[in-house]
Amino acid sequence: MKRAIFPGSFDPLTLGHYDIIKRGITLFDEIIVAIGVNSDKKYMFSLEERKTFIEIAFKDETGVYVVTYKGLNVDFCKEVNAEFILRGLRNPADFEFEKAIAHTNRSLSEIETVFLLTSAGTSYIASSIVRDVIRNNGDYTKLVPDSVRVK
Ligand code: ADP
Repeated sequence: MKRAIFPGSFDPLTLGHYDIIKRGITLFDEIIVAIGVNSDKKYMFSLEERKTFIEIAFKDETGVYVVTYKGLNVDFCKEVNAEFILRGLRNPADFEFEKAIAHTNRSLSEIETVFLLTSAGTSYIASSIVRDVIRNNGDYTKLVPDSVRVK
């Protein structure tokens, strides 16, 4: 059983995240989408909303679970018996950042980080951009799955 966690804030889920999870399903038996809880961070969407957006987007997909967690990714991996961390790469900045974290995680544990390169059509999408479009009343619906809607 190959189980990976896909950690992030998902504030909100974007078509970029959606693409990585969809492609990840072909590599792993189970993907646990892990929403990190950081009490110092201000979010646009509540934890419940962020969780629901992902659950609805993957309701027809067996093998995708959504949970919230606190603390280190490697500790959470051990808790849920996951051997892999799935991450997406969009650009060189992502690579440099992710490289340092993956090396750190490797020094703390046996957990392997598996990277998927962003798809050409979603490489420019980031949650921060989506939030900016929403704040300025733009059409954010082209950037997110149908389950993500502002009330
Ligand atoms: P964090 O909260 O860790 O900054 P996010 O919640 O935005 O990150 O993203 C979680 C994961 O999804 C990260 O691995 C990030 O690189 C990846 N990701 C985000 N947007 C995209 C995209 N457009 N294409 C590919 N991967 C993406």
